[in-house]
Amino acid sequence: MRNIPLMDAKAQYNALKDEIRPALDEVLESGNYIMGPAVHRLEQAVAKYCDVKHAIGVANGTDALLLTLDALGIGPGDEVITTPFTFFATAEAVSQLGGTPVFIDIEPDTYNMDVSKIEAAITDKTKAIIPVHIFGHPVHMDPLMAIAEKYGLHVIEDACQAMGSEYREKRAGSIGTAGCFSFFPTKNLGGFGDGGMVITNDDELARKIRILRVHGSSPKYYHSMIGYNSRLDSLQAAMIEVKLPYLDGWNASRREKAEIYRQGLQGLPLQLPAETDYAYAIYHLYIIKTDERTKLMEYLNEHGISSGIYYPVPLHLQEVYRGLGYEEGCMPEAEKAADGTMALPLYPEMSGEDQQYVIEIVRRFYAERGEMV
Ligand SMILES: *Cc1c(COP(=O)(O)O)cnc(C)c1O
Repeated sequence: MRNIPLMDAKAQYNALKDEIRPALDEVLESGNYIMGPAVHRLEQAVAKYCDVKHAIGVANGTDALLLTLDALGIGPGDEVITTPFTFFATAEAVSQLGGTPVFIDIEPDTYNMDVSKIEAAITDKTKAIIPVHIFGHPVHMDPLMAIAEKYGLHVIEDACQAMGSEYREKRAGSIGTAGCFSFFPTKNLGGFGDGGMVITNDDELARKIRILRVHGSSPKYYHSMIGYNSRLDSLQAAMIEVKLPYLDGWNASRREKAEIYRQGLQGLPLQLPAETDYAYAIYHLYIIKTDERTKLMEYLNEHGISSGIYYPVPLHLQEVYRGLGYEEGCMPEAEKAADGTMALPLYPEMSGEDQQYVIEIVRRFYAERGEMV
């Protein structure tokens, strides 16, 4: 029987071993393990890639959000508008600082925050908006930025799933006040452990985040703020630096495979991913929505195909946020997405044969249930 994983974190290492090993050896032999030249070089490379002035390496994507919000002065009493359909870290960063996440419902097709709902959620406590480019499809940023400007709000793009995706030819993460990336191994530009980065065109914000990541000190041992220990390792930076030039090719390959799925799965009673006219989506995950998720996942599993649920509980219904007072049913689209969406295997190195097999098995599932359209 076949065994098709949802993603394959090893594949890129295997393909680039001959470049990654020497980069590692260089760091190991240099003795410069924390904040070495590799971190600086990766920051320059990412800033160039995203066409922004500053990139600041940090310990992970969650810290990228946390340090940015902290540097922008978000704290107790402040409200930050975001989406309930995201990884928990997006809202967690707000809560860590004593702020309150305010959730608005999502669009049923892109699963991104419905920007037409932002204005109604703004109060005199609102300080920022965190759009999340979920699954690599960018949020509709033009109307969002217009509202942010009108009310004087910061915009922190959670681009952890969207490195290399574009909104109207601009890189995800480069449009708002700041953008945050994660190098978690399964992200599109995955490291070999934890890592993250903030990008911004704001000199003062960049300066503050650089100080915050080293215990609020500049120069060393002179502390002007309460900060964090949140540095990007030289080893991670050196390995990610090797991978960055390949990112666009990998993303293009994800898009080609998404198109093969679109053609192969059309006509079935399931919702395929949207790609709007403003988006260059990079399919961090290939998400479908179906009324028969549990049965379809079981059927795939019986045929050696992995699939996954992202995310089973929307944030407004998480136990820890019960105190915020959201009731079941108040964000119908986010709740429908949590109940009905699932990810099919998709990664740049996936073979055409494996993908055709996935398509065949999904089609067979519906055929056996007499639901062919
Ligand atoms: C992965 C992810 C994060 C957190 O990144 P880490 O590096 O795991 O801390 C935040 N937001 C979103 C949307 C993510 O997918």
